[in-house]
Amino acid sequence: RERLNKGDSVLTRDLSELLPGSGPPDEETLEEIETRLLMADVGVSATQQIMDGLHERLDRKALSDREQLLAGLEAEIRAILDPVDAPLEPVHEGDGPFVILVVGVNGSGKTTTIGKLARRYRDEGRSVMLAAGDTFRAAAVEQLQTWGERNDVPVIAHATGADSAAVAHDAVQSASSRGVDVLLIDTAGRLHTQSGLMDELRKVKRVITRVMPDAPHEVLLVLDGSTGQNAIAQAREFNQAVTLTGLAVTKLDGSAKGGVLLAVARELGVPVRFIGIGESAEDLDVFRSEDFSRALIS
Ligand code: GDP
Repeated sequence: RERLNKGDSVLTRDLSELLPGSGPPDEETLEEIETRLLMADVGVSATQQIMDGLHERLDRKALSDREQLLAGLEAEIRAILDPVDAPLEPVHEGDGPFVILVVGVNGSGKTTTIGKLARRYRDEGRSVMLAAGDTFRAAAVEQLQTWGERNDVPVIAHATGADSAAVAHDAVQSASSRGVDVLLIDTAGRLHTQSGLMDELRKVKRVITRVMPDAPHEVLLVLDGSTGQNAIAQAREFNQAVTLTGLAVTKLDGSAKGGVLLAVARELGVPVRFIGIGESAEDLDVFRSEDFSRALIS
């Protein structure tokens, strides 16, 4: 949790100088908070919602000191994040694996997140299989295979340039016949064109459903949390193409830009399942609104 915001939160750093110890905040203080929310990538509409909430609290005299202001801010943040706090339970009732289709642009941390998830689920005692569906990039297939070998997790892969839908198809069949609990399917993050990518993802999803009618059980978008408002545009586009059911927001360590989660939550309303807080295998936390909201302001 400490690594979520190294040092002080951008939202509240040095704010104590601005905040009166007692007495309600003045207009200047509220404006400063608004500016900071926008600078922390919270986005216009989530910022508006938070500021409306704070003004409403001020009107009913519920912000009469610094403590109340910070508590009010935290409560307004939670009002946005609580609805997207819904941890993933990767259990498939009945035959066949719980299928997680993982999508996201190159560089978002997709492969790293798949590795972290595989490790997490394996440590929980589940059997895991990976599918190297990014057939466009040889390095992506190799990266997944290396990871699988090192961690004793089977990886289904075809040759570079193969049809990624065929990889997904084989993986679902293989995972089903081997009694695997969780199947994580990687996908391409860039093709020659963006519309080509979305078409391919739609096709991969369709083929999975053809093999296993209730799958995929999760369509997880991996988003680079340090890309700010750009992340929202990406999320919207993926959501349109393959209907997301969950998000993993990475790189929330280092830069204190966790505010983008508020923008995403407000815009998409898709559950945030995980947050990435570093490069190593254990640096993936289950998203919890309460902890995250507190970390944002403390
Ligand atoms: P992909 O192209 O989407 O598969 O991205 P990768 O998984 O290869 O990750 C791209 C880079 O981001 C790598 O250098 C990762 O180590 C790094 N990365 C991934 N997740 C995190 C994270 O949560 N925090 C930090 N600091 N780096 C991350």
